[in-house]
Amino acid sequence: MTPPRNSSAARDIAHVLHPYTDHKVHQQAGPVVISRGKGIRVWDDQGKEYIEAVAGLWCAALGFDNERLVKAAEAQMRKLPFYHAFTAKSHEPMIDLAEMLIERAPVPMSKVFFGNSGSEANDSAIKMIWYYNNALGRPRKKKIISRLKAYHGITVASGSLTGLPANHKLFDLPLPGFLHVSTPHHYHGAQPGETEEQFATRLAEELDAVIQREGPETVAAFWAEPVMGAGGVIVPPATYFEKIQAVLRKHDVLLVADEVICGFGRTGSYWGCQTMGIEPDILTCAKALSASFLPISAVMINDKVFQGIAEGSHTIGTWGHGFTYSGHPVPAAVAVETLRIYDEIGLLDHVRRVGPYMQKALRARFADHPLVGEVRGVGLIAAIELVEDKAARRNFDPARKVGLRLAKLGEEHGVILRALINDTIAFSPPLIITEAEIDAMLDRTAAALEALA
Ligand code: PLP
Repeated sequence: MTPPRNSSAARDIAHVLHPYTDHKVHQQAGPVVISRGKGIRVWDDQGKEYIEAVAGLWCAALGFDNERLVKAAEAQMRKLPFYHAFTAKSHEPMIDLAEMLIERAPVPMSKVFFGNSGSEANDSAIKMIWYYNNALGRPRKKKIISRLKAYHGITVASGSLTGLPANHKLFDLPLPGFLHVSTPHHYHGAQPGETEEQFATRLAEELDAVIQREGPETVAAFWAEPVMGAGGVIVPPATYFEKIQAVLRKHDVLLVADEVICGFGRTGSYWGCQTMGIEPDILTCAKALSASFLPISAVMINDKVFQGIAEGSHTIGTWGHGFTYSGHPVPAAVAVETLRIYDEIGLLDHVRRVGPYMQKALRARFADHPLVGEVRGVGLIAAIELVEDKAARRNFDPARKVGLRLAKLGEEHGVILRALINDTIAFSPPLIITEAEIDAMLDRTAAALEALA
């Protein structure tokens, strides 16, 4: 149906180039224009209400309204709407936020660098690692290993870390020097009869072999989301990270944890690293850092990395990296208030209560459904994977766009769902969601799935 002339939808079709969109389809179908939000719900410009099952893009941790964050932004705009952090200029919101992040870090961390997005955080961390190895006099140690199906962003460098086909081939990525090892997904990746433990051992051996093949003196870092998000909500086997970290230590390879989705409670610990037993050298985060009210991201580095960079900036040349908006005072003030709210309302305890409820309810409702191959997740992040053949674990032909069709049906039934690779439907609702709201979200999802079947 063509949207009425001069409607928001028609003006969108005329002027906006959307991320992640089939532009030809969009020219006909147009957008869903979201006009307002409250709690876990948003409303479109026609007044239709939706439950946001993915908190927007895994990010609106406090839902879609919060007076305290509005006030924090307004107060900061009135006091100091902008200042930068170049050449030793600073301001209180950035200092407060850096201090709060270091206090909350999963392992001892030394310094925080700020960007505006998850992609910029990962991009910045790549450059920090390259600069660090130049400073240490080992310019060949630059290669970076991540995993197939990882999502670390879409800039040229962070897009090279990403391991999804849609972000690579047609954009001439990855850049040379970025390598990808297997996804730790037992459901699809295990050999017949292989236990989770054996699977984890095999993946650690694969990593070891790749590092040996490339030469440990050329491999700088390994990148991982504690739980893969956009790649399909993949929770690795229990011993996976322990085994991977042993390999990395053996070869003096840094470990970077991408906590852009997992950070701030999503998996039932403050950090995904704590849920998965990861001790990173560098940690990147964004999204829930400001409850997504304003864009901001952060890179935390440990003292080993900081000392290398600090030494280099004094001897080999300027640490020439930073954004105009690195640590921008308004998003920084909002992030400070966000972290205070998380503590004051006991958000982590809340996730620890409702997360298992959501996981159990998802399994009870969908695990036996003939179209559902696997239900997986931890805390308040989960997925159901749709399959054509449940016994053979065979996915549908991607051309049939079954996941996207379910997401569309979800909209008709009042729930915004996100369809990922392999027709996997993600659940990552605002962290404030209640048990009754989880039931409502799953009722609507079940109705959409029945309409599909
Ligand atoms: N890292 C992870 C784990 C993500 O999920 C995302 C985005 O979804 C990013 C990085 C990139 O963040 P941004 O879209 O803010 O650049």
